[in-house]
Amino acid sequence: MPTSINPATGEIIEEYAEHSDADIDRAIANADLCYRDWRTSNLDDRSALLNRIADQLETRKEELAGIATQEMGKRLKEAVAEVEKCAMACRYYAEHGPAMIANEDRPGGPASENFVAYLPIGPILAIMPWNFPYWQCLRFAAPAIMAGNVGLLKHASNVSRCALEIERVILDAGGPQGLFQTMLVSSKKVDGILKDPRIRAATLTGSEGAGSAVAATSGHEIKTTVLELGGSDPFIVMPSADIDKAIEVGITARMQNNGQSCIAAKRFIVHEDVYDRYLEGYKAKVEAMKLGDPMETGTDMGPLAQKQGVEDLKSQVEQSVAAGAKLVTGGKAPEGPGFFFQPSIIAEVPENAPAYRDELFGPCAIMFKVGSIDAAIELANDSDFGLGGSVFTRDKAEQERFIRDLDTGGTHINRMTASHPALPFGGVKRSGYGRELSHEGIRAFMNAKTVTRD
Ligand code: NAP
Repeated sequence: MPTSINPATGEIIEEYAEHSDADIDRAIANADLCYRDWRTSNLDDRSALLNRIADQLETRKEELAGIATQEMGKRLKEAVAEVEKCAMACRYYAEHGPAMIANEDRPGGPASENFVAYLPIGPILAIMPWNFPYWQCLRFAAPAIMAGNVGLLKHASNVSRCALEIERVILDAGGPQGLFQTMLVSSKKVDGILKDPRIRAATLTGSEGAGSAVAATSGHEIKTTVLELGGSDPFIVMPSADIDKAIEVGITARMQNNGQSCIAAKRFIVHEDVYDRYLEGYKAKVEAMKLGDPMETGTDMGPLAQKQGVEDLKSQVEQSVAAGAKLVTGGKAPEGPGFFFQPSIIAEVPENAPAYRDELFGPCAIMFKVGSIDAAIELANDSDFGLGGSVFTRDKAEQERFIRDLDTGGTHINRMTASHPALPFGGVKRSGYGRELSHEGIRAFMNAKTVTRD
């Protein structure tokens, strides 16, 4: 049964009845019916709807943010910023979407006219995680709506209220019945839904295990998938960097969202010439962070979203220290109600420690010292993941090396890794495949139809 628990207190907020097989079938039928009209809808009407969705999100942002904070523990001001970002993405696709999916001439073809027509494909299943409970869904939904597709959401079981609110926002904005529906179902039901011939594709943001299961079924059914999975992003600091800025940005990049972001800076790879200064400055900021109620403005770090998350992180840190890593600060789950974990740093992590290779999905920075750019690149790439990554250096030649040689879906120079609708987002290796956002994201679920005409 999908259950929402307030992670700041550990108390149950609400339990939801799971949708039955008949409910699921009805939702898919609605989606299929809606798609028949929506696929031929006017692009101006799609833009207008996206702008009205943005209006709804902006009008209700405080209320929606409060719901997210209650269900998954992110700090209220971060939740407000998340809702605002969703509105921005809707407006972005309302304005730029039509040009992204306009017919594209292909000069040099065999006919008098040679072009690609971008056409929608149908109902898409979106399987989403709890960590950005609105953004993950809207970054899929905004381009899907502009493309002429329709969406069915299977959200994480701990954020059902957020999931239902997204459906409501789209309906209240005037979206047609069936355009975007939430199904309150457990992950066990995903396989059957994916096999339904009316579902044409799937997008999943979440863990490797979930991605692999969805990709296996989709592969068997010959259906397109986009997978946005985990990461252990490097954050590299070279001697020419603005160190104060690299500390400031490094704290946000690791600790935002209570440390639970796929694109968080997880492995800090710092040149030996500036390592001591960097670690000292970083440690001072970590130790000054105030752990507490995510609804309060003075709080720097709220709880983790789930009890299991605290247990996993605690075990990864303890096992890493047992393997020889040095605990620089933090490392404990405080006694008392709620799912809290201290903002932490570990260093000198040996290769056999879990922190060297696994994703730490919580507020713990891992510090590595390297002696050269080659060593920084080698260590950064010594990971099963390849999502994003930041590099702090003012040396242009070094910047070009990192752009060329980091095996990741994004490299961000003198900035933290962040998504924006103008730019594609996604990873390589076990961080997944395909891209969301920008041209690549909207076209991921479109039929690039070849047209020749004499
Ligand atoms: P998760 O357990 O994989 O859950 C994500 C979604 O997948 C939930 O809706 C979950 O449903 C569903 N799910 C789980 N197992 C499934 C299966 N076998 N078949 C079908 N669906 C399944 O992920 P999480 O632990 O909550 O989220 C954290 C992970 O997501 C981290 O690894 C993080 O890096 C990654 N993430 C990646 C991105 C990105 O953009 N690359 C963004 C955010 C998070 P239930 O809740 O019902 O189990």
